[in-house]
Amino acid sequence: MRNKTDPLSAPRDDELEQIRTQLHALIGDQIKKADPDASLTVLGAGRDDVEPGRNFLSVLDQGGWSVPNWPVEYGGRGVAPSEVALISRALFDFEQPDLYPFLVSLHVVGPALIEYASTEQKTRWLPAIRSGKEIWCQLFSEPGAGSDLANVSTRAVRDGDGWLVTGQKVWTSRAHYSRWGLLLARTDADVTKHAGITAFAIDMAAKGVDVRSLVQMNGDAHFSEVFLDEVFVPDVDRIAELGQGWAIARSALAHERGAISATNTGMGIPIDRLTDLAKTSGPVRRDAAMSVYLESEVARLTARRARSGSSDLGPTGSAAKLRGSAVFKHTANCGLGILGMASIASEDKTDTEPDQEDELSVSEDWGTLFLTSPSISIRGGTDEIQRNIVGERGLGLPPEPRVDRDKSFRDQV
Ligand SMILES: Cc1cc2nc3c(=O)[nH]c(=O)nc-3n(C[C@H](O)[C@H](O)[C@H](O)COP(=O)(O)OP(=O)(O)OC[C@H]3O[C@@H](n4cnc5c(N)ncnc54)[C@H](O)[C@@H]3O)c2cc1C
Repeated sequence: MRNKTDPLSAPRDDELEQIRTQLHALIGDQIKKADPDASLTVLGAGRDDVEPGRNFLSVLDQGGWSVPNWPVEYGGRGVAPSEVALISRALFDFEQPDLYPFLVSLHVVGPALIEYASTEQKTRWLPAIRSGKEIWCQLFSEPGAGSDLANVSTRAVRDGDGWLVTGQKVWTSRAHYSRWGLLLARTDADVTKHAGITAFAIDMAAKGVDVRSLVQMNGDAHFSEVFLDEVFVPDVDRIAELGQGWAIARSALAHERGAISATNTGMGIPIDRLTDLAKTSGPVRRDAAMSVYLESEVARLTARRARSGSSDLGPTGSAAKLRGSAVFKHTANCGLGILGMASIASEDKTDTEPDQEDELSVSEDWGTLFLTSPSISIRGGTDEIQRNIVGERGLGLPPEPRVDRDKSFRDQV
């Protein structure tokens, strides 16, 4: 008999079927069934149309299905991560728009707000996040603060009933259509760097916010530099107490790792497409695809283990992200290997016969996947940083030397 407490025990087909039945009854007549031949979506690559995602989420929002992991009182279903995974699988029955533009709002900012925002703030912000109406971005990284995020130098200075925020953020995903940003800013330079950071919600349409898109190597311009020039942020939009920003950042980053590591959902690894592609190939490529398939199973189980643990995703979330990043890259490499040169040399379509178009679009999808795949090892914390977390917090290895830990931020710069 299956051990109900063991997250790695046999697949839960009966539970999956129950969820499917509930979902089909709820949204079956509002959302089309999935088309197995639809093109791949690669982490939002190339897509800027967020309306289909909004419509989808607003339908799911009925009954808490857009954020099943959120507590019921905030519009979720309050279910365990393992059940969230089953819901994600059941949703594959339907034609899903690309939900990647909403990932930060739903799975990073939302949970951090639930943990740290005031009741008034939660009432104000969470409903529009859940339904996809308002997208949030994460204004954390700066030119001098990436892996060493506590080094943020964007400053917030008290001004009457609010704050004036000045500085520069970078790599801010989806900033160009975000309504709000979860911002980390320095409010005190005389304490240690981790202690002097405060979190705010910043209105992305406020005077002094300048968003400039950056072009990525896959051709997208989905992340930006954000310049902040004396932007007024009312104190009612400060999240939690002064100096609590680092705790909020850690919570958001742990949720981000969890979301990205949710293999086959958050990352959208098209392993089934790879196995289909491999069927058209010779034994050597099929063997390579089989190895990637096995690796993806290990990644899926690692992600499941991470999701089924305590709410502190910590080292297990990092391990799952590492596995997921590796398998994402290997899937893309393997697909490209099968398709050969066509997959990277398919830009000029001027002489294309109509019957070749489908083939080209498949190649382009895999080309995009390949060019997007290295970013997984960077976004949400690099592979090296995840290994540090696994080493120090999971395996108990000696920590890296951190000479700046006890100095005030002002004394370091
Ligand atoms: C597609 C994408 C989307 C992103 N979206 C967002 C977003 O929405 N919001 C946001 O705030 N940020 C975002 N980021 C930024 C991302 O979080 C940072 O790029 C990441 O934290 C690394 O920071 P960095 O680029 O400054 O590199 P650095 O920190 O300068 O690191 C450079 C290299 O040094 C290595 N390194 C650094 N420190 C150590 C160490 N202690 N031990 C071992 N190796 C180390 C790193 O692993 C890396 O290889 C995004 C990045 C990408 C690629």
